[in-house]
Amino acid sequence: MPPIVPPMPEVMTVLGPVSTADLGVTDAHDHLFLRSPALPGQDFDDVEGAIEEVAGSDLETVVEVTPIDLGRNPAGMREVSERTGVHIVAATGYHRDAHYPPGHWVHSATVRQLADRMLADLEDGMDGDSARAGVIKAGASYQRITPSEGRRMIAAAAACKETGAPILVHTEIGTMGLEIVDLLTREGVAPDRIILAHLDRNPDLELHREIADRGVWLEYDTVGRIKYRPDSQLLDLIASGLQERMMLGLDLGQRDYFRAYGGGPGLGYLMNTFVPRLRRRIGDDAVRGILVENPARAFAITKP
Ligand SMILES: [Zn+2]
Repeated sequence: MPPIVPPMPEVMTVLGPVSTADLGVTDAHDHLFLRSPALPGQDFDDVEGAIEEVAGSDLETVVEVTPIDLGRNPAGMREVSERTGVHIVAATGYHRDAHYPPGHWVHSATVRQLADRMLADLEDGMDGDSARAGVIKAGASYQRITPSEGRRMIAAAAACKETGAPILVHTEIGTMGLEIVDLLTREGVAPDRIILAHLDRNPDLELHREIADRGVWLEYDTVGRIKYRPDSQLLDLIASGLQERMMLGLDLGQRDYFRAYGGGPGLGYLMNTFVPRLRRRIGDDAVRGILVENPARAFAITKP
């Protein structure tokens, strides 16, 4: 009788399941298409522009976390992936309140309706396209989780428990991390299914250690956002610890952040500018852990 070999875990990309072993260097938080009333004049929706950015990025996987009703483009993501050979993991789920004006259906939908929409994206495909989502987005406001955000988070927990897809949560300026973990774990989500984004906006290592001790994943994803702080401070933070729970991204969420639209730093910034500095600080093995091994574990679909 042949030995029973456990199946290799997989990540769901817009072109279908991919073995975690094939994910490679991963930008754990970015955008290729986005349109939000919270960011007027900053829409970006050009497939050729996205291809130019991705092709010059030296990345092997991009986690594209544009959620429901914010300009997400499943067919565009498939085309970018097909033409560049770069894996793209798309998101279902919902952002924080600021991106959904009063009267938007997400505010009146029931938890079950919110969850069912996510399950359809994860299991059947998004917005009538064959591309399936591979991660669940959620979001909280600055210093609070509003009632509407709380309902969407509870729905995200239900979708996570039913599919094994991870939940990636937007924190506003790095606040509410522990409260988000409390809410999701109270709903029965395993800590290793939770990824907290934008923690580097509040570069408080003691707080990050406390969050990491809960067993969740941390994202430092404002690399190259010099208006927030110099990259040197981010290099110090990464070198100080928590590398075993950490992932990186650029979170290019505005048109002005892309070279293809005449701005910067552009999607090539992570590998071409920041990572060479990071290698000199922490060495190749630690960089590989952050860019390859941690995302392979965090974004794996862990069948419940
Ligand atoms: Zn983002």
